Amino acid sequence: MKCLCHSGLPHSECCGPYHARKILPESALQLMRSRYSAYAYKHPEYIIATTHPENPFFSKDSAAWTESILQFCKKTEFRGLKILEFVEGDQEAFVTFLAHIFQNGKDVSFQETSRFIKVGDRWLYHSMQ
Ligand SMILES: [Zn+2]
Repeated sequence: MKCLCHSGLPHSECCGPYHARKILPESALQLMRSRYSAYAYKHPEYIIATTHPENPFFSKDSAAWTESILQFCKKTEFRGLKILEFVEGDQEAFVTFLAHIFQNGKDVSFQETSRFIKVGDRWLYHSMQ
């Protein structure tokens, strides 16, 4: 099975090891791709584990947060991911991407610049710019 981050690689050689928590993404770009595919594979726990506590949607109520992510995953088709720009520093990185997604047959694709912060040895999704 090709990875749902649309890299063209098999899941087991792409985001699979991150989702299984075997290894940490080395770059914010790998984290970004693996978060996109985590939505596509319906892995809310991975989304939660890789979100910075300062994110505006961060919730201490992980049951409710898990449920809301799952609802989003279930009603969304993740048809493509295009990376437009990637700027990485030691502790902070930015990824601009185009997420090609559909809901109820409607194109609800969006472009976002995401900010990532490194905490210890882990990249975390901080916020949308
Ligand atoms: Zn992948």
